[in-house]
Amino acid sequence: MECIFCKIAAGEIPAPPVYRDDEVLAIADINPQAPTHLLVMPLAHHANIGALSDADDAALTAKLFAVASQLGRQHGPGGYRLVMNTGGDGGQTVDHLHVHVLAGRAMSWPPG
Ligand code: AMP
Ligand code: ZN
Repeated sequence: MECIFCKIAAGEIPAPPVYRDDEVLAIADINPQAPTHLLVMPLAHHANIGALSDADDAALTAKLFAVASQLGRQHGPGGYRLVMNTGGDGGQTVDHLHVHVLAGRAMSWPPG
């Protein structure tokens, strides 16, 4: 499968891990939109949050959000934003589930 995040998870494309365990990987976004911009993803391929929900893996879902919120708290003591772009209209460009962790500046609302 030609999935860039599967290749990163497998070590075929180098990306220094900010966090890694046996289920979840966090890396720095290559095109950061905030002073801290991390991507937290499962090692296993799920296209998006709907696919993970369909897979009914509650433990992995919980782990994903636990890691994302811990990184958000660590890098954004004053607050942070978690984003999951989903599908074309949601702005998703890489079809391997990931949570954006944005921190280090005040965020505006609404998003574009
Ligand atoms: P999304 O548009 O929500 O699917 O997010 C995909 C994100 O992946 C974008 O913010 C890209 O900048 C980021 N990205 C794409 N390729 C890489 C890569 N090789 N390493 C790190 N981040 C990447
Ligand atoms: Zn993948």
